[in-house]
Amino acid sequence: MTDTSTPKIDGDRLWNSLMTLAEIGATPKGGVARLALTDLDRQGRDLVCGWLKDAGCELRVDGIGNVYAIRPDRHGRTDAPAVAVGSHIDTQPSGGKFDGNYGVLAGVEVLRTLNDHGIQTERPFAVAIWTNEEGSRFTPVMMGSGVYAKAFTLEHCLGQRALDGASVAEALDTIGYAGTDTPPAFAAYLEPHIEQGPVLERENITIGAVETALGQRWFDVTVVGQDAHAGPTPIEMRRDALLAASKLVIEVRRIASQYPDYARGTVGQMQVIPNSRNVIPGKVVFSVDFRNASDTTLLAMADDLRACAARVAAEDGVEIEVKEVVHFQPCAFDAQLVASIEQGAKEAGLSVRRIASGAGHDAVYVARTCPTAMIFVPCEGGISHNEAENAKPENLAAGCSVLLHAMLDRANAR
Ligand SMILES: [Zn+2]
Repeated sequence: MTDTSTPKIDGDRLWNSLMTLAEIGATPKGGVARLALTDLDRQGRDLVCGWLKDAGCELRVDGIGNVYAIRPDRHGRTDAPAVAVGSHIDTQPSGGKFDGNYGVLAGVEVLRTLNDHGIQTERPFAVAIWTNEEGSRFTPVMMGSGVYAKAFTLEHCLGQRALDGASVAEALDTIGYAGTDTPPAFAAYLEPHIEQGPVLERENITIGAVETALGQRWFDVTVVGQDAHAGPTPIEMRRDALLAASKLVIEVRRIASQYPDYARGTVGQMQVIPNSRNVIPGKVVFSVDFRNASDTTLLAMADDLRACAARVAAEDGVEIEVKEVVHFQPCAFDAQLVASIEQGAKEAGLSVRRIASGAGHDAVYVARTCPTAMIFVPCEGGISHNEAENAKPENLAAGCSVLLHAMLDRANAR
């Protein structure tokens, strides 16, 4: 028997919380449609806030509707920097039961476990529910955590409108979550989440200690050749924009496989002009999405693409413009927290590996304000943003145990 100071979380209770919350906005195919700041979102918030109050928390709501539930420390303080866990409970229109919801409800389970064992902590604990992470009804995505981290101003976000016409300010008012409380400072922030990718499941590993969120550089590439008749124009006299674009698509794939450690490269969108079956294409516009853990490497990937574009332009007698349209810096998570997650997994006898997050998460913004890390657990087939999203109860419980270990570790640290 191993002697561990981390109490055991209740995996069944965590699963039941997930299934109960998933009833609000449940879809016929087993998913959840609970868009940000709708009445269903209100019902979800009310349910979870009730659980957090029952767990002895003080609740605060800030101007963008983020909820912070604070469990006092052993000195009865709620104003000292808290060790926090959080995520979001809004979903995509055809979302699943676990994306976001798992992070919040793992937090609820941590507090319930501390209460069961009468454990007091050196610092307060907090559970955060961030507003509009999904960005499906209102842009930008990760709105609540972005306002918390001052990536956007509150005024800008309150004025954003949904397609149905409501502004964020009006929607918050309608559901009763237009708060006035000051957001708390965190001593550390952890976010457990389903992986939303296939790596852990494929490698049969239970815990992903997320060491980085990938940076992104997006480009619009425009290739200009010359429209011409598909019949009379001999092959060697063509300036075929689609042929040149195709060569670059292959280069994007080569670049993605050549740069360590976490390089991704995707061409997901292409416009062929005039897009007629008997005309040699005179113009092609396509997207390139590059991701990696280091911005230096991302820049090298972009330089590589530009060099290829210059070579192909000369070879094929076309003009190629490569224009950067989006740039997100990579986010390295806190080394001590990542190590604590790994150690907690090992002590619990769970398989663990370091991993990168390829998607955006609230943690990426919160990381600008305090030491932050994420804990990934496998999801079935790596599928999310889909009603079929699924995860195993034992893996969700394992992630929650590792979370509790890491939070206690941090709460009692200096
Ligand atoms: Zn999420």
